[in-house]
Amino acid sequence: MAELEGLHFGKSDFVLLDEVTMEQFLENLKLRFEEGRIYTFIGEVVVSVNPYRQMDIYGNDVIEAYRGRELYENPPHLYAVADAAYKAMKRRAKDTCIVISGESGAGKTEASKYIMQYIAAITNPSQRQEVESVKSVLLKSNCVLEAFGNAKTNRNDNSSRFGKYMDINFNFNGDPTGGHINNYLLEKSRVVQQQEGERNFHSFYQLLRGGSEDLLKSLHLNKDPTDYTYTSQGAVAMTASTDDRSHHRAVMSALKVIGFSQEEINSIYKILATILHLGNLKFENEAENVQLVGGDLVMHISELTGTEVESMRKALLYRTVATGGGEVIEKGHSEQEASYGREALAKALYERLFGWIVGRINSVIEVKNYNPALHGKNTVIGVLDIYGFEIFDNNSFEQFCINYCNEKLQQLFIELILRQEQDEYQREGITWQHIEYFNNQIIVDLVEQPHKGIISILDDACLTVGKVTDSACLDSMNDKLGHHPHFTSRKLTPTDKTMEFNRHFRIRHYAGDVMYSVEGFLDKNKDPLFQDFKRLMFNSSDPILKEMWPDGKLSITEVTKRPLTAATLFKNSIIALVDKLACKEPYYVRCVKPNEVKSPMLFDDARCQHQVAYLGLLENVHVRRAGFAYRQPYDRFLQRYKMTCEYTWPNHLMGSDREAVEAIVLQHNFEGDVAYGHTKLFVRTPRTLFTLEQERTALI
Ligand code: ADP
Ligand code: MG
Repeated sequence: MAELEGLHFGKSDFVLLDEVTMEQFLENLKLRFEEGRIYTFIGEVVVSVNPYRQMDIYGNDVIEAYRGRELYENPPHLYAVADAAYKAMKRRAKDTCIVISGESGAGKTEASKYIMQYIAAITNPSQRQEVESVKSVLLKSNCVLEAFGNAKTNRNDNSSRFGKYMDINFNFNGDPTGGHINNYLLEKSRVVQQQEGERNFHSFYQLLRGGSEDLLKSLHLNKDPTDYTYTSQGAVAMTASTDDRSHHRAVMSALKVIGFSQEEINSIYKILATILHLGNLKFENEAENVQLVGGDLVMHISELTGTEVESMRKALLYRTVATGGGEVIEKGHSEQEASYGREALAKALYERLFGWIVGRINSVIEVKNYNPALHGKNTVIGVLDIYGFEIFDNNSFEQFCINYCNEKLQQLFIELILRQEQDEYQREGITWQHIEYFNNQIIVDLVEQPHKGIISILDDACLTVGKVTDSACLDSMNDKLGHHPHFTSRKLTPTDKTMEFNRHFRIRHYAGDVMYSVEGFLDKNKDPLFQDFKRLMFNSSDPILKEMWPDGKLSITEVTKRPLTAATLFKNSIIALVDKLACKEPYYVRCVKPNEVKSPMLFDDARCQHQVAYLGLLENVHVRRAGFAYRQPYDRFLQRYKMTCEYTWPNHLMGSDREAVEAIVLQHNFEGDVAYGHTKLFVRTPRTLFTLEQERTALI
């Protein structure tokens, strides 16, 4: 059993702690981390601590040890969870999902890759060609998504700047037949702006550093990332840990394996080059009018986007507006507007490119011609790798969205974990007491409720004609939400001279209080892009670029409906995600980042305590223990403990295994601590098992 790994390594399941306190929890986590035991269970949940070093625990021998085994037969591991999800899918034809959460740098993406590798390794024993090719596309897609969706940040050298949910489909044999990827909230602001010490998305550096001379020449690019504003603001073109050149080769080969054509690959590079050139454009005020400095760049941009130079120049400097009378006029930009428009275009180009790449991968791996009557039920394992709760010094719209997403996932976690427990008790015919827990639905409502919630208030402000400022929007939130127990807006009293107001509001999240600065909220929510750009891109002579801009079809007078706001789009996608997860049997991996300095040695108590708190891990242990901490089928229980009872050793003569188990329980006076299900024995406190284990060890 897992807990027999040895006391030396602490408790392999937090359920076995003597007392469920933060101190004991952390002590156990730390002890195990220091002993190189990076995984620990809470029942079926795996808690993982990023080791920040290569561990020799993912090899084929380890895969074999976990393959087809029960959770408690081996030490805690990602593979144990992956196998449990796979078994449930294969044996019981259940759709399952593995939810991986934790903060940036905690090891979510690495965990998701190990899980996928495990599933790939244990499936398709007969090496059927079509299954092998599905597996290789699924695995290769990670490499492509990381190139375009990951970046070096101050927290993580290879940080995913998007959320990812991947469904893997299986046939009745349990072999992968396809899949589908959903992506969430790509951090597109990174395209035009990076903080000190951070980089733009890897793809730009890979192209510049790894592209052949001919390729770069055709794109009018130089090799040096410092030549481009968008790749040099963070001042780290190169990082020690990222070899852009070799990654470029790997991505090229992955794109080809997946099935991207040379034309498609060329279009991808042209879009990346366009963005880099856009960043170097300069605008200049010349007697009222804004002018472009450097004609070459616009020529390059129009060549790369397959658009007319004049149209491109015009779209960068003017916008077409419809007057009230239905008249269409051209209005010159101010310098600020021009530069704003350019950034919006660069961000949109990248975001749409990313979405298109995901869609293109999906078109390859999507299950085709599946006939349930012929092939049996098509089952699914979903793997979710999504940003964890974020509390920064300055929290903005992005943190607001991410933390809302985490509220939704927490809601699901509580519901599913409790529901799962309840279901099992019901199946086994056991009565149980309802467990009290904090239901965060109230916070979810605060954010998403129609008409009353924060998103709705933001959207109203964005729809209002005329200029509504961020602080006016904050006033509106105050009016409507001032009395909400989880909402506070700290409006400082105006100081005597400056009439400045505080521009913050605070949400009391389940994971703690977060102060959001309202500055830029409305703009990020509205996320405007001039229709002129959309139309220009739609009219591109490059069919692939054109495909990414279907909404450019409309002329200015036809654009009547406002596009949905960023917050509403995000909300809808998260609601759809939760619906998808809710109908699956969930498995959880909770990732903890041991320190801020990527050290394999350091366990920063305060940082870890913080994460344990907001991942709700103690609560998880409580829930697990409030019911029955352990359950085992009668035959297994008997097998393990029969030597501790004279009536069952070496063999029992009773009618059933259940009766034999009853004899063991009676002999040890544990009647008060157990319940008998139809097929399993349920044990309330772990101590009972300790005692049995001790006795057993003494006897063997
Ligand atoms: P997240 O996706 O949670 O932001 P990552 O999975 O990208 O974090 O992990 C960040 C870094 O930590 C990785 O690039 C790797 O260096 C290290 N790391 C994470 N998990 C492991 C692991 N299981 N073994 C070795 N190193 C790891
Ligand atoms: Mg990641």
